[in-house]
Amino acid sequence: MQIIDGKKVAAEIKAEIALEVDCIKSSGGKIPHLAAILVGHDPPSETYVAGKVRACEEIGFKSTLVRFDNDISEETLINAVHNLNKDADIDGFIVQLPLPGHISEQNVIESIDPAKDVDGFHPVNIGRMVLGMPSFISATPAGIIELIRRYEIPTAGKACLVIGRSNIVGRPLSNLLSLKGYPGNATVTLAHSKTSNIPELALKSDIIIAALGSPGFITGEMVKEGAVIIDVGITRVKSDLTRSGYKLTGDVKFDEVAPKCSYITPVPGGVGPMTIVSLLRNTLLASKQRISG
Ligand code: NAP
Repeated sequence: MQIIDGKKVAAEIKAEIALEVDCIKSSGGKIPHLAAILVGHDPPSETYVAGKVRACEEIGFKSTLVRFDNDISEETLINAVHNLNKDADIDGFIVQLPLPGHISEQNVIESIDPAKDVDGFHPVNIGRMVLGMPSFISATPAGIIELIRRYEIPTAGKACLVIGRSNIVGRPLSNLLSLKGYPGNATVTLAHSKTSNIPELALKSDIIIAALGSPGFITGEMVKEGAVIIDVGITRVKSDLTRSGYKLTGDVKFDEVAPKCSYITPVPGGVGPMTIVSLLRNTLLASKQRISG
């Protein structure tokens, strides 16, 4: 059994990007610039955005944080998006979700220029991804695909079960793994809360990607010998063993499942660290595409 070390791979990718930024700087090129729009003061959103800004600083990108109060109107927010679309110095930007209930997330996402949509949420990028065309792929699926690639995990002809069909994780992953090429060519089943026979499907699967947000959902008896397990779930579970009073828990019962499988991602330290580096990679790509016109 091999542990897929997302922390290590993420650090490698950050170092690779930092090197590229050094080359850009020394040749007098334009430094990649990522902007983030943050509405309100939701604590998890504050943490995620701060992490993204910090990562930009670490690798030498420029970053800009645009903040608005919770009561901003949809129209004003969309105007701010249009301003970032037009700003020649910004290569890519994100609008941190969730947005307050009175704002349509879909309207805001659709107002982003697809060429600057480094979160990969715009329908144009999702459509291009589904067709196997070059596109910005959203951070978590892109990070998982990169882990599979770097660990050279075979996917062709494999039975792959993706559990969870959200637009940001399960659905794009199921598309990517069924595309022609590598990592892809898998025979994918996409399960969700209405799927009646998940244990049976899981037992037949060579690759299981658990992205449902249900701690310990995948047990040892649901996994066949040699399976590859990617645990996307992150849930805060109360714990007396940590100072904070909670621990981050995945969708997989690691202790039961790990001895049976060929590869497994831990939580934390597996998929999570890959998410921000995927955003940085998309920003670098956006910057290069703008330069090449
Ligand atoms: P989400 O939008 O809540 O979607 C959850 C999906 O799981 C839905 O499709 C739901 O089915 C399905 N589901 C829920 N309970 C189920 C059950 N008992 N059996 C089968 N399917 C079930 O969640 P998400 O945003 O995709 O996130 C999923 C998990 O990944 C969460 O724990 C989240 O914190 C984590 N996450 C981690 C990262 C990372 O960087 N590691 C990034 C994003 C998300 P229905 O569609 O039928 O409701």
